[in-house]
Amino acid sequence: MSKIQAVRGMNDILPDDVYKWQYFENAVKSTLKGYGYQEIRLPIVEKRELFHRGVGAGTDIVEKETYDFTDRNGEALTLRPEGTASCVRAMIEHGLLRNQIQKVWYTGPMFRYERPQKGRYRQFYQLGVEVYGCDHIAQDAELLSLTWQLWQALGLQTHVVLELNNLGTLENRRSYVKALVDYLTPIQDQLDEDSKRRLTKNPLRILDSKNEQTQKLLDSAPNLHDFIDAEIQQSFTSLISYLKTLNIPVKINPRLVRGIDYYSHSVFEWVTDRLGAQGTICAGGRYNSLVSDLNGPETPAVGFAMGIERIILLMETLTLFRQGRHTPDIYVIFDETSVFTAMTMVEALRKAHPKLIIEQNTSPGSFKSQFKKADKSGAQLALILAEDELKNNTCVIKFLREEKEQMTLAQAELSAYIHQLFPAQ
Ligand code: ATP
Ligand code: MG
Repeated sequence: MSKIQAVRGMNDILPDDVYKWQYFENAVKSTLKGYGYQEIRLPIVEKRELFHRGVGAGTDIVEKETYDFTDRNGEALTLRPEGTASCVRAMIEHGLLRNQIQKVWYTGPMFRYERPQKGRYRQFYQLGVEVYGCDHIAQDAELLSLTWQLWQALGLQTHVVLELNNLGTLENRRSYVKALVDYLTPIQDQLDEDSKRRLTKNPLRILDSKNEQTQKLLDSAPNLHDFIDAEIQQSFTSLISYLKTLNIPVKINPRLVRGIDYYSHSVFEWVTDRLGAQGTICAGGRYNSLVSDLNGPETPAVGFAMGIERIILLMETLTLFRQGRHTPDIYVIFDETSVFTAMTMVEALRKAHPKLIIEQNTSPGSFKSQFKKADKSGAQLALILAEDELKNNTCVIKFLREEKEQMTLAQAELSAYIHQLFPAQ
């Protein structure tokens, strides 16, 4: 029988790497808390219809990438490919959108059937942030400055650029799409295959085609900005000048459109040139129509999602992780006769010194092999609680990283002595 391996594109995060994730999660949680955002936890499985209506039936995600299945009751379900649609569903379902502003974030795995490669997986993790009930451009500005704060906290600020575009209102976008289709239809046989297909399904996406000839044809296409209301242009300009006052590196990219149907007004991507083709680490924008499309009350909304793997890859590339796995401060050694008495004492010690990491060897062998393990663990001290020590109500401390004589202590003095050795804890 062959070994069972993980599903292609779905990765384990091993103990030696997990601290990187925790480091990111802690930084992001404290940044979001500082801005008054609340966490929301959402299911991983939703009704398939939610993504058809929420993400859009003509999008790559719904057309090619979802994991769909029917459950034992015949219900059509989908592993979520993104979090926004679920978040909107939850907001509507629990009546959280009436006359109030909601600022929420979520994190967790998303599933897309894509070709796995560096920075692109079939199960990947996003951190999403969404704000409901606020139509002012100041809200878009807050989200971007919050993200900028996070890049600074992580040390990424000199390696990312904010690409920004204005799609105008949905009506602006619609009349532009019509003009674009009118322009491209007569010359459609010169387009790349994907763009040809998009001409009927999702024409706006042709703008971000990677094909050079298509890009050339677009040079003479109608310009999206000519279709945008003056008032919307003006608020977009004020957004740009605010970002400049924060010294955020901004690049206006008139061909930036998002893959998902619901965006309008400002859309953006944080991009790095250090990760090759998978250089977008965070993407989002405004989606004022989605809540009502999903039968909720008219509610303006804006949000983004970060790809956590890509951020971690970037931080690895830049060697920004200093802290390693948790090394214990104290490693406890005992023998067969002292196992449970020793363990009871160690429990009390942990209670008295909650910040210390006290690791206990739970498979006592020879002292020699136990000392080897203690040394390998990286601990400062080995604490020996074996038969002799227990008989005499003592314990032995051996210094693993210093040239110091080992010492024997009365058990009653141990806690005070540890406090002396680790005064901060
Ligand atoms: P891409 O153009 O790279 O496919 P996307 O437009 O499909 O990205 P979004 O749906 O906007 O991506 O998701 C937001 C972020 O999630 C992306 O910017 C990226 O960082 C991350 N992401 C998306 N798909 C994947 C994936 N398959 N593997 C890892 N990260 C991903
Ligand atoms: Mg994609």
